[in-house]
Amino acid sequence: MIQLYIPLNFLGVIYREIKQSMIDMEKMFALLGQHREIADAPDAQPLVNRGGAVRFENVRFGYDRDREILHDVSFDIPAGRTVAVVGPSGSGKSTLARLLFRFYDVDAGSIRIDGQDIRHVTQESLRRSIGIVPQDTVLFNDTVEYNIAYGRTDADRAAVEGAARAAHIHSFIASTPKGYDTMVGERGLKLSGGEKQRVAIARTLLKNPPLLIFDEATSALDSANERAIQAELQSAARNKTALVIAHRLSTVVDAHQILVMEAGRIVERGRHTELLALGGRYAEMWSLQQAGDEIAA
Ligand code: ATP
Repeated sequence: MIQLYIPLNFLGVIYREIKQSMIDMEKMFALLGQHREIADAPDAQPLVNRGGAVRFENVRFGYDRDREILHDVSFDIPAGRTVAVVGPSGSGKSTLARLLFRFYDVDAGSIRIDGQDIRHVTQESLRRSIGIVPQDTVLFNDTVEYNIAYGRTDADRAAVEGAARAAHIHSFIASTPKGYDTMVGERGLKLSGGEKQRVAIARTLLKNPPLLIFDEATSALDSANERAIQAELQSAARNKTALVIAHRLSTVVDAHQILVMEAGRIVERGRHTELLALGGRYAEMWSLQQAGDEIAA
């Protein structure tokens, strides 16, 4: 009896394993069905940079075909200007950045850089032209130098150090026993959220692309760190075209234009003072955040 019981039980385990892996495969195929593969068009040309002016024109997009996330979104970022996007969680801010980097293709409308539809340029040239400082920078299990130089294999130590200085991470790196040869990432030295963002800023400065996307961290940094990162970012964005996804309104005060998003639509746009004078959604968000800051202070 016991002998029979063990194999049956064993078979049960195998059965459950097979069933589970079939469910996982189903999930995988469902995912594959959602995400259309991004590929270069047969006649794709390298992107020709003329300052990096961005135009979103009547863009519609959904991750799933039955749920549109962005509804008819249009805006311009003139070359060398900064546009900041604000709005509640889930309103579609980061989706704009993902579309500009062409992680996905738009369902309708177009995105152009210097007049060129990004679906008609090579992905390699597009991604070379854009520097992203993401919300959560994932570092490679490699040295600090490798992590900063990633994307610029020709950069020498002096160039890496220059970028690290500009991103205010050099003195921290220099204080570690192995300096730029220190291993970071999961199996190496663990960096704080602010330090990781500085590594990402240094990487972007070194890459020196005409276009910048900055997805501000949602996780709160302490306010001194936050102000420092904002200042570093502003100097990184000088003379570049920048799209800033902001979670704190203090970041956007100096932007050339602020887009206020709500449920996948731009509901207000203008400069900080104009939007305050308008007395609408932005003004409301601003006064709520000011009140929150006072409580926190
Ligand atoms: P937050 O401020 O919280 O970062 P957000 O404004 O950047 O939010 P998005 O990340 O652009 O919002 O998300 C917009 C909508 O798209 C949300 O409803 C979200 O659930 C949905 N979404 C985001 N990523 C995916 C995905 N990979 N697959 C399906 N839906 C997604």
